[in-house]
Amino acid sequence: MPNPMTSSPDQPTPQPVPPAPAQQQRGVQQPRSRPPQQRNQPQQQQWADVSVVVPLYNEEESLKELNQQLRSTLGRMNIRYEILYIDDGSTDHSFQILRDMKRNDRHLKVIRFRRNYGKSAALAVGFEKAQGNVVITMDADLQDDPAEIPSMKRRIEEGYDLISGWKKVRRDPISKTIPSRFFNYVTSVLTGIKIHDFNCGLKAYRREVVKSVKVYGELHRYIPVLAHWEGFKIGEIVVQHRARKYGKTKFGIGRFWKGFLDLLTALFTTRFLRRPLHLFGPIGLFLTLAGSVIDLWLIIEWARGLTSLGNRPLFLAGSMLIVIGIQFISLGLLGEMISKTRTTAEEYSIREFLK
Ligand code: UDP
Ligand code: MG
Repeated sequence: MPNPMTSSPDQPTPQPVPPAPAQQQRGVQQPRSRPPQQRNQPQQQQWADVSVVVPLYNEEESLKELNQQLRSTLGRMNIRYEILYIDDGSTDHSFQILRDMKRNDRHLKVIRFRRNYGKSAALAVGFEKAQGNVVITMDADLQDDPAEIPSMKRRIEEGYDLISGWKKVRRDPISKTIPSRFFNYVTSVLTGIKIHDFNCGLKAYRREVVKSVKVYGELHRYIPVLAHWEGFKIGEIVVQHRARKYGKTKFGIGRFWKGFLDLLTALFTTRFLRRPLHLFGPIGLFLTLAGSVIDLWLIIEWARGLTSLGNRPLFLAGSMLIVIGIQFISLGLLGEMISKTRTTAEEYSIREFLK
């Protein structure tokens, strides 16, 4: 059994705290106002080296095995750690199992949602509560291997802010792997982030990242995009992936539509939030230009008496392209006007502030 109070020597602030004074002083009369240095002391358990955040929804068969694997890896690392299980409104016995496990293990924290809010919500709450300097997220279905945690932590210590797992050899049905390849490729091209597997559940974050990115809706698929936009340094390592042993996937075919819409949201709320014309403008200009070239060519033909416009459907298509193009440009301009009138100031992610 590792000592959870041990800390690695290069640990930054805050400092570890001695065992809780409250427990020892039970029955001793408390002075009315405590001396200032004691008042300012952080509460016990206010930080950890590593927090593991596990969102789960109906994963009763996997939990015990997962917890054992986590404990054996984390125990060997000789660090101070916590494991946060976020029960996303499970309707099976997941919560009861977690509650029993927590009784014998003080590294565990269990949060239970009143209903199923989705993986992003579970991660967001886990991020909020996590006290570790490095935060690891992983799925509860045993598809991710806890043995990867030490090397991921090492990469964060090397200077990366986010390390994403890359399931290079994937143990999933082909109906999932092919669309996923496509999504990863498109996302990488559109965002300029050079990683292969955006939606891998196994990731490691520097504390600042989880405290600053806002994950909502189903944006958990695109956390690297959000983090990249805030200027965090992203890396990836190849991780082992295992087939789902128990239960079944919680994301059906709907994941592809949602995934696509979420990509739009991710791009929109990062790259184009303050400059919508840069998204709509180029599309509009391209369509208008294409329509104009087609129609101009047909008009010249007509003027030379070579054709009559009445029986050239292409002429109609050209006109439509022009109209649609102008609409795109107008939409972009409208967006610009709306973004100018918004009163909330833009948020900038500040890395350091030397005073
Ligand atoms: N999950 C969750 N809430 C949901 C759906 C899924 O917390 O509404 C959890 C799920 O229990 C698992 C992880 O998110 O721990 C990944 O889900 P799943 O394995 O079904 O996704 P896949 O591996 O098929 O992409
Ligand atoms: Mg899974």
